[in-house]
Amino acid sequence: MIFRTRFAPSPTGPLHLGHAYSAILAHDMARAAGGEFLLRMEDTDLQRAKPKWDAQVIDDLTWLGLTWDGPVLRQSQQLTSYNKHLDVFENMDLLYPCSCSRADIRAAISAPQEGVSHDVYPGTCKDRTITDRKPGDALRLHLDRALSRLAHQDVCFEETGPAAKAVHHLNPERALADIGDVVLSRKGEDIIAYFLASALDDVAQGITHVVRGEDLFDFTMIQVLLLRLLDLPQPIYHHHTLIRDDAGKRLAKRDDARALAKFRAEGASPQDIRRMIGLL
Ligand code: GLU
Repeated sequence: MIFRTRFAPSPTGPLHLGHAYSAILAHDMARAAGGEFLLRMEDTDLQRAKPKWDAQVIDDLTWLGLTWDGPVLRQSQQLTSYNKHLDVFENMDLLYPCSCSRADIRAAISAPQEGVSHDVYPGTCKDRTITDRKPGDALRLHLDRALSRLAHQDVCFEETGPAAKAVHHLNPERALADIGDVVLSRKGEDIIAYFLASALDDVAQGITHVVRGEDLFDFTMIQVLLLRLLDLPQPIYHHHTLIRDDAGKRLAKRDDARALAKFRAEGASPQDIRRMIGLL
């Protein structure tokens, strides 16, 4: 089996040193294994994803000397496929509509941020049925039913990253307490939960190894659970340590001070960047 990985940035701001680390690590792992490195733009956040950032990502990665195999996949082009998979969940009777506040739902579907805890949904709309869905309702996964469908499977994934190298097994009680009924979509608005879109595209792109930051580790079990429900293949995961600022905080897009564009403007070379992040 060929080793195939990817870099999947959200084009919502400039790439910084942390992204460079993730992209270069994944790229180098693929090349060392004689495998493939793919690029995917996670541009489903229609308010924040911008063509100018998409172009800047391509420019920065090219400048770093990275090459990717095949065309760039953009999630905004994949909405029909996401909706087909949502229909499969609906046919399995695993979805219910939810009208709880926009702010709650927004927080649940946007890309994760370190230090922002993911609230477990209290189940207010749990007894509603899909047939009484109103425009603008979110769709939630009925986790108890999902778990019963998988009761006879050992739902697990292999992690090869440094912090949690092991085979991790799903514990249903813990999933109910820690994950709960996640929002998968706000159908009317073509908004899809980040973790579902990402997991589906890993399958669509034939990814064998997901290489990404350890801030995303906690999303892995729900992604694997969703793939198992859909009977789709799952990759091996490698969550790498994060590049942090001097105060030990994870770099974020708003930290323009560490944007690659800034280092480039100041005359740094791609080798300098590799040296700064310890990947020379
Ligand atoms: N788009 C996500 C981010 O920029 C990464 C998703 C992933 O690698 O699975 O944080």
